Amino acid sequence: MKALPDLSAVEAMDAADPLRSMRERFVLPEGVIYLDGNSLGAASPAVFGELQKAATQEWAEDLIRAWNTAGWFDMPVVLGDQLGRLIGATAGQTVVCDTTSINIYKVLHAALAMRPDRHVIVAEGDSFPTDLYMAEGVASTRPGAVLRLEGVDAANVEELIDDQVAVILLNHVNYKSGELRDMAALTRKAHDAGALIVWDLCHTAGAMPVELDKANADFAVGCTYKYLNGGPGAPAFLYVATRHQGEARQPLSGWWGHARPFAFEQGYAAGSGIRRFLCGTQPVLSMRALKGALDLWDDVDLTVLREKSIALTDLFIQLVEAKCAGYGLELESPRDGSKRGSQVSFMHEHGYRIMRALIERGVIGDFRAPSTIRFGFTPLYVGYKDVWAAVAVLEDILRTEAWKDERFGVRTAVT
Ligand SMILES: *Cc1c(COP(=O)(O)O)cnc(C)c1O
Repeated sequence: MKALPDLSAVEAMDAADPLRSMRERFVLPEGVIYLDGNSLGAASPAVFGELQKAATQEWAEDLIRAWNTAGWFDMPVVLGDQLGRLIGATAGQTVVCDTTSINIYKVLHAALAMRPDRHVIVAEGDSFPTDLYMAEGVASTRPGAVLRLEGVDAANVEELIDDQVAVILLNHVNYKSGELRDMAALTRKAHDAGALIVWDLCHTAGAMPVELDKANADFAVGCTYKYLNGGPGAPAFLYVATRHQGEARQPLSGWWGHARPFAFEQGYAAGSGIRRFLCGTQPVLSMRALKGALDLWDDVDLTVLREKSIALTDLFIQLVEAKCAGYGLELESPRDGSKRGSQVSFMHEHGYRIMRALIERGVIGDFRAPSTIRFGFTPLYVGYKDVWAAVAVLEDILRTEAWKDERFGVRTAVT
């Protein structure tokens, strides 16, 4: 076991951090230690600049012409290619559009239709719920289609894969525990059984290197408002491997996915390439904000990012277990950094109250029912001393039992 670092050792880690200067490119309020970038990434002047330009120049001055002059019409595919570089996707396979929930529906429906002789969708019982809800919706469109769930129908997803499975929908990192799946190995298993696979990258895009092409993935979806810092409600993305783009048909056959949207034809004709996965008019201002956020990644080496992410989360686990021992916290995330996303979760009977007390003291993480307190570590703007300071506050709240105060028992709408 590694010796417990003291404050000066932690400060030395910050001084040696190759990503240290990225912190200055984000704005975070004074007195806040932000450990919730896995729910909503931080704001940046780069984003404000793009928003300002999009509103006051492109919209205000160019009006409808801006669809052409400012490149609004092509933004979903241009940003898709830019984002594709962060998830191991060569050009023409990624598009930015809609929400993750909607994109799950589109690609899952497309994948199911590509296996007409099979009727099973495999997913995880402890998946982020919207993925399951959308899978239910997709299954309901095809008579006889059923969901088979890990943790319900068998303990491990591998045991659920057979020759009846059309498509497997997996979260690359589990939103609650932070457990990381082996994308390459599971994709191979799916293909060996003749099934297709959809990866949900909400908790890995911008958190670590992702290699969709190398893993031979079929489809993927993900958020841009978490580790990619695109802003609240920023549009999501989807990936369809080039080899499937001719055959894959998505169910939301809107005019933006039409082969000739401005011919205003009566019947639908699916466009070619990744554009056929668009549906309707996109949120231009949010897209322009996302452009600012994605530009920041030009200066980031994802291997260095991953190393820092593991070091931050290792340090957090080590400090919490050393300084908060005996207060009923139980590690829920994998201890092995190589099997963990960029977050650490602990279970505690009074997790909700503890998180409320932490937030009041400026340490912002979040709570996931029934008992998980979750801390996200965004390597672009979280430092090692932040980890140290957060654990000191947590220790104080547990030792003084500050969380027992009545006001922390009242539930807020968003946790
Ligand atoms: C955050 C998250 C979503 C969110 O979906 P929205 O449609 O953006 O609300 C979906 N899936 C996973 C795994 C997530 O973590």
